[in-house]
Amino acid sequence: MLDLLRRITQEVNTAQSLPMVLDIIVRRVQHAMRAEVCSIYLVDPNTKHYVLMSTKGLSLSTNDTISLKPDEGLVGLVGKRAEPINLADARVHPAFHHVKTTNEDEFQAFLGVPIIHHRQVLGVLVVQHAEKRRFDEGEEALLITLSAQLAGVIAHAEATGAITSLNASSKEESDLRYKGLAGSDGVGLGRAVVVYPPADLSAVPDIAVNNIQAEIEKFKNALTAARTDIHKASERLSEHLSSDEKALFDVYLKMLDDNTFSLEVEGKIHSGNWAQGALREVVQSHVANFEEMDDPYLRERASDLRDLGRRILSHLQKNAPDLSERFSTPAIIVGEELTASTLGEVPLDKVVGIVSVMGSSNSHVAILARALGIPTVMGVLDLPYTQLEAVNLIVDGYQGKVFTYASDTLVAKYQHIVDEEKALEEEYLTFRDLPCETIDGHRMFLHVNTGLSADIGRSLHRGAEGVGLYRTEVLFMVRDRFPTEAEQEIIYRQQLEGFYPAPVTARTLDIGGDKALPYFPIHEENPFLGWRGIRITLDHLEIFVAQIRAMIKASSGLHNLKIMLPMVSNVAEVEDALALVRRGYAEVKEEGYDVVMPEVGVMIEVPAAVYQIKQLAGLVDFMSVGTNDLTQYLLAVDRNNPRVANLYSSFHPAVLRSLYSVVQDAQKENVTLSVCGEMAGDPMGAILLMAMGYDVLSMSATGLPKAKAVIRNVSVFQAREMLRQVIDLPHADAVVRTMNRLLREANIERLVRPINTKEK
Ligand code: PEP
Ligand code: MG
Repeated sequence: MLDLLRRITQEVNTAQSLPMVLDIIVRRVQHAMRAEVCSIYLVDPNTKHYVLMSTKGLSLSTNDTISLKPDEGLVGLVGKRAEPINLADARVHPAFHHVKTTNEDEFQAFLGVPIIHHRQVLGVLVVQHAEKRRFDEGEEALLITLSAQLAGVIAHAEATGAITSLNASSKEESDLRYKGLAGSDGVGLGRAVVVYPPADLSAVPDIAVNNIQAEIEKFKNALTAARTDIHKASERLSEHLSSDEKALFDVYLKMLDDNTFSLEVEGKIHSGNWAQGALREVVQSHVANFEEMDDPYLRERASDLRDLGRRILSHLQKNAPDLSERFSTPAIIVGEELTASTLGEVPLDKVVGIVSVMGSSNSHVAILARALGIPTVMGVLDLPYTQLEAVNLIVDGYQGKVFTYASDTLVAKYQHIVDEEKALEEEYLTFRDLPCETIDGHRMFLHVNTGLSADIGRSLHRGAEGVGLYRTEVLFMVRDRFPTEAEQEIIYRQQLEGFYPAPVTARTLDIGGDKALPYFPIHEENPFLGWRGIRITLDHLEIFVAQIRAMIKASSGLHNLKIMLPMVSNVAEVEDALALVRRGYAEVKEEGYDVVMPEVGVMIEVPAAVYQIKQLAGLVDFMSVGTNDLTQYLLAVDRNNPRVANLYSSFHPAVLRSLYSVVQDAQKENVTLSVCGEMAGDPMGAILLMAMGYDVLSMSATGLPKAKAVIRNVSVFQAREMLRQVIDLPHADAVVRTMNRLLREANIERLVRPINTKEK
C-alpha cells in the first residue's frame, strides 16, 4: 500500500498537467485494485457539476464531456454525503443514473469515495466491477486511503495545472490567482525574482535565456568539472575500496559520459531554459523513472543520479550571476521557504513584494516584511514558483493573493489601490508630530519593534516614542558565526544612540522555534515547545553574558537601555537571568564605564506566565505581552503552519480574555506593562488593547502611523464600548466582523486600509 502511494506520488510529481496527473491515478488505482473500471470525477467550481475527468475501463461512445448535476447519480450522492458508497449492484439503487453514452450498465459493483481537501469535496473516485459483489472492507479502506492522500495532490495539480511550460503562448493574460495568507498589508506590482537555496536541485527555477550557446558552454564546463571531481574522489579512495565498491564510481562516470544525458540537457537548453533549469528537468525525470522500477538495485540508482545532479549544479552555481544582478525595480521576491536572513541578502530598495510558498503571517520573515512595509503573501502552497522567474506578478498583501499574467483591467484596479495607499500614507504623516491621544484626551504611547539598523531612521520618521522590542537575534541571523561582544556593542550603540533619549528595550537572544542560526543548528521534533529563547541562553552562559555585557557597555553615558527576557515560563529562569544581568552590570561598571543598572523585564508570551503575573512582577521592572507566541501557545496552533493558519487569531475569545486578565493582574502590581506582538499594530487590536487598559503599544514602524491615526480618531469611551460588544462573542470571526462594523460606524474604517480592498 505504502509502496503504491509512494509510486503514484512520485509519478504525479513529474506530470506536466492536471490531465496527466489524473491519468496516472486512474491507471495505477485500477491496476492495484484489479478493478475493471477506475474513474475520477471532479467538481467544476462554476457549475458544481461532477465532470468525468479521467477513466480507465469506461468506454465513451461520443466525445462529449460527461457531467453530472450535484444531485445526479451515485457520484452526486457520494459527493453530497461526503461518504463512501459501496454497492454489490449499483443498477438497483434508486440514485443510479445511467449515462447513455457510456457502457456503465455493464458494471454492477460500485465503490465511490469522496475526494476531500480542506473540508471541501473536490470530486469522487470510483471503481467498478462487472461481477455482482460488494467490494470487501480491505478494498474500501484502500480506496479511502488513496483518496485522502491524493486529494492534496489533485488540489495542488488543479491549482498549478494552468501553467505547464516555459512556452510563452500558454501564458495568456488569465488573471491566474493563487491563494495564500495575508503576510504584510499593501499591494505590490513587479517582476518576480525567484530566490532559492544553493545546491538544491528541486528548488532551481526555470529561467528563460536567449544566449543558448553560452548556456550550453556553462553546462559542458560544469559536466567536465564534475567528472574531474569523481575521478579524484575515486583515486583518493582507491586503496580503501574493494573493486566492487570502486565500480560505483564507474557507474557515476558512465552516467556522466552517457551522451544521451548531456544531449537531453542541451535539448532543454535549446528550448529556452537556462542550464540549471534544464539540468533539473532532466535529472528529475530520470529520477522518477528509476524510482518506479521494481528492482531495488535500480531504484537505488535514483539517489546516485540525484547526487550527480547536485554535483553538476554546484559547479553551475559557482559561476552563476550574483543574486543582486537579477533584481531590477520593481521586484518581487518569490521563494519556497523564505527566511528572515534571505531579506538580508537582497537589495531591499528594489523590492515591492514578497511571496513565500511556506510559512504564515506570523513567521518571522512576515514580521520583518511588515517592519519594512513590504506587501507580503505567505503560505501560497500551490504556487508553481520554479516557473515564475521574471514573470509579472501582483501581490495583494491585504487578502493574501498572488496574481500571474494579470489582465490590464486587474493591473489598473491594483494600481489604483497603490495610489490610494500613497495618499493614506501622506495623511498618516500629518499626525506624525502630534501626540498619540484619543479625542477625549487619553494618552497612549507608541513604540516600535526593531531588528535591522535600517529600522532606526524609518521609526523616527514615523513618530516612534521609543523601542518596545529590539529583536537582537536579527544581528545574529545575518552572520555566519556568533558576533563577538565588541561587534555586538557597536550595533547596540547605534540603536541606543539613534533613539536617545527615548528608551530602547533590547531583548536577549530569542532563537529556536522558527528562528535558526545557520551556524548553530537545532534539530527537534517540536521546536516551538523545545529549546527556545531564555532556555538556550541560560544553558549557554557564555552567549548570554557576552550579550548582556555588550548591551550595558553600549549604553554608557546614554542610560536608555532596558533588557527584556523572552520565552519565560517559570520564575527560576528570571531569577537566574537577573543574577547574570547584575553580574554583567557589576563587571562593566568595574571596568570604568559610565553605566546604570538597566531596567529588566520579561515577555509574557507563554500561558504559564499569564498565570504568574504577581510572582513575576515581584522580580522585574516591566512586562511586555508577546501576542504572537501567546496566541500560538494558547490556541495550540503553530504560528508558521499554513495548514492551520485559519485557526490562528489574536482575536480568539480565549486570547482576548487572557490579555484582559494580564492587564488587570498587572495593574495590582508595581510594574509597567506593554504589548509588543503584532496585534498591537493592528488598528482593531490597538483599540481593544487600549480599551483593556494597556497604554504602551509597540509595533512595526510601518503600522505605527496607522495605529496613531486610528487612536486619534476615537474616544476611550467608544473603544471601551467596542470591547464590551466583542469580549463575550464566541468566535474570532465574529469579533473581527463586529469590529469591522464598529469601525465603519465610527467612520474610521477608511483610515485602516484603502477602500478598494476588502476586509481581512
Ligand atoms: C511575540 O511572540 O509576540 C513577540 C513579540 O516575539 P517574536 O514574534 O519575536 O517571537
Ligand atoms: Mg515571541
